[in-house]
Amino acid sequence: MEGMIINQAPKILVVEDEVKIVEVVKSYLENSGYTVCTAYSGREALDKFAAEDPALVVLDLMLPDLTGEEVCQALRQRSRVPIIMLTAKVEEEDILRGLKIGADDYVTKPFSPRQLVARIQAILRRAEDRTALLASLLSFNGGELTIDTMTYEVKRDGQLVNLTPNEYKLLVTLAKHPNKTFTREELIEIGLGEEFSGYDRTIDSHIKNIRHKIEPNPKNPKYILTVYGIGYRFGGEKRGDQ
Ligand code: CA
Repeated sequence: MEGMIINQAPKILVVEDEVKIVEVVKSYLENSGYTVCTAYSGREALDKFAAEDPALVVLDLMLPDLTGEEVCQALRQRSRVPIIMLTAKVEEEDILRGLKIGADDYVTKPFSPRQLVARIQAILRRAEDRTALLASLLSFNGGELTIDTMTYEVKRDGQLVNLTPNEYKLLVTLAKHPNKTFTREELIEIGLGEEFSGYDRTIDSHIKNIRHKIEPNPKNPKYILTVYGIGYRFGGEKRGDQ
């Protein structure tokens, strides 16, 4: 999924045993452009979560089998998915406990579906911002090479590397598509945004310079690999989420 642009409507899992509430929430969410899947018990919620991989969970506190708290804790063991608790209890203590076990927000019953939708939108926006922030940092080989596409900083072993704008653009183009071999023509057009004008070896000298700046051993490169007869490919390995 990484690097893909997701245009699908975010999927919301609604967990609630009161059919009427489920129907109302479902129709409001669908009218707001979300896809909705439902569960009427705690165990069904865990099954649906695994099968549907929702972007957010609306979780009722009072369920027939497991409690909402137990479901919340079980979800937290496997995921950081945003969770909004629905609770009939207005006591502050219950609300605080709900947040402590890992819920992101809570809504007390009776609630306005419109307000619930607004909360969901706000939480999903925050989650998207976080993802974008994480996605702006490319890290390779256990953090040996990092590229921050927000600040345009490239570091090797934590040390800032000075790249020219063209070198930076080429490196980012390659690093963002680690499995793709780029021809020189593609690197000029996609990487540098310039028109390709026939036989051109300027890319080669850019690559040579980048290698001298980022490769531990420029003679035996591991980040920018030559694909003979074709062009270049990125060889850095993404590991963990450093
Ligand atoms: Ca209930």
